Amino acid sequence: MEKILFDMHTHSSYSPDAEDSAEAMCEKAAELGLEVYALTDHCDCNFWYPTEHYFTDKQDVTDAMMYGAGEYAENSIAEQVRLKEKFAGRLDLRVGVELGQPLQYPEGAEKMAADPRLDFIIGSHHMNSGCDDFYYLDYSKMSAEQLDKLLTDCFLQMLDMCKWGKFDVLGHLTYPLRYICGEHNVSVDILKYEELIRSIFKTLISNGKGIEVNTSGLRQKYGQTFPTFELVKLYRELGGEIITFGSDAHRTSDLGKGITDGVELAKSAGFGYAAVFKKHQAEFIKI
Ligand SMILES: [Zn+2]
Ligand SMILES: [Zn+2]
Repeated sequence: MEKILFDMHTHSSYSPDAEDSAEAMCEKAAELGLEVYALTDHCDCNFWYPTEHYFTDKQDVTDAMMYGAGEYAENSIAEQVRLKEKFAGRLDLRVGVELGQPLQYPEGAEKMAADPRLDFIIGSHHMNSGCDDFYYLDYSKMSAEQLDKLLTDCFLQMLDMCKWGKFDVLGHLTYPLRYICGEHNVSVDILKYEELIRSIFKTLISNGKGIEVNTSGLRQKYGQTFPTFELVKLYRELGGEIITFGSDAHRTSDLGKGITDGVELAKSAGFGYAAVFKKHQAEFIKI
């Protein structure tokens, strides 16, 4: 197997849905011999404060464990700074965060995005405003119109996030498909949203931002990357040059998984270089 060069999207137990400690993740990344590695724990901005902060009308949000995201992210970053020192010479750790729904709590997002310790920020959209995470929704009970509205809103809100732009790459563009297509077997014609996706790509490109190829779908029921080849190719055709690769591992055993396949996919789509980030500056590695 070809050597895995990097993994720019991974979670440690500072993310409520991940298993292994940040130190264990770094140990595994060093064992795999990654040239560049990023920890990107969750900071879902709409859950910035602990549960007690929220009024009862928000208590129906199922994902209660995610509350206190600002604190988790802060603790993760502090630990990453320590680990960067500890692993110096063995692992090139880039200090990262996955900033979810920044526009659902802009004050928190601005604060996080300005943290001088960060090398790399993934901007992600896990839930539409006022809705639960796409993970929790029951697609079997949705009409085609409801599903269409959900996805249209998703890409519109993602576009707004890209216009805001205080991140380095857009995370898993087609995240909802992990659940809609993968877990619930509901098919989606993603090209129906091509115009919106083009606007997202053009906005990213003109702001000097990138996208990621998130390889988690390859080891899940969905069976493909987020986004798939056709959209990676579209991004390239529109002039996209900045592309990162991440396994979205939530445990040491998934670290680096699918990266070599993601790289092959990007090469077929016309990419010659992968991006990694240091203090928000893209560095390019030949692929
Ligand atoms: Zn995510
Ligand atoms: Zn993630």
